[in-house]
Amino acid sequence: MSAFDDLLAGNAEYVKGFTNSGLTGRAARGLAVVTCMDSRIDPLGLLGLEAGDAKILRNAGARVTDDVLRTLVLAVYLLGVERVLVMPHTDCGMTKVTDGDVHDLTQLHGVDTRSLEFHTVPDQDSALRHDLTRIRTTPFLPKDMPVGGAIYDVHTGRLMPVSL
Ligand SMILES: [Zn+2]
Repeated sequence: MSAFDDLLAGNAEYVKGFTNSGLTGRAARGLAVVTCMDSRIDPLGLLGLEAGDAKILRNAGARVTDDVLRTLVLAVYLLGVERVLVMPHTDCGMTKVTDGDVHDLTQLHGVDTRSLEFHTVPDQDSALRHDLTRIRTTPFLPKDMPVGGAIYDVHTGRLMPVSL
C-alpha cells in the first residue's frame, strides 16, 4: 500500500475532525452536478456546498454519457435530487484533442483504444447544448426538472451560467 501512504496519513488527520456522521446518502440541497475530472475543480467549494449537499458526477469533459444518465435516474428517484447542473470548464483538455488524436497518443504506448469513445469536445457550446438536451429529453427523468448549464473558469474561480 506504500503508493497510498500519504492518503492514509491524510485520512488519519481527517478522522480527527470528522463531524459528518449524521449525514444520509440523500442530496440535502436536492442537487446533482455533472462536471469534469479536471483536478483544478473543487465542485463543493466553488458552489458554496458541503459534504451531504449534492451528488457529484465527474468524467472527462463533463459529458452526459449513458452512465451519467443511469446515475441521474438513481439520484432523482432514490436519492433526493431535484435539479441538475452540467458544469464544464475553461481550458479543458477534452476541447484540445479529437478522439483520433487520443487514439494516436495511446498508440505511442502500444495501446489500441479505437474501440473506446472518448467524447472529446470540438465545440464546448454545442457539446453542452447536446448534453443538456440529453437530460431534458430523456424519458427516464421528470420533464419539469430544472436542468442548467454553466462554465467554470479555472483561472478566476467564477461560474458563468449559459442559457442553452
Ligand atoms: Zn476538463
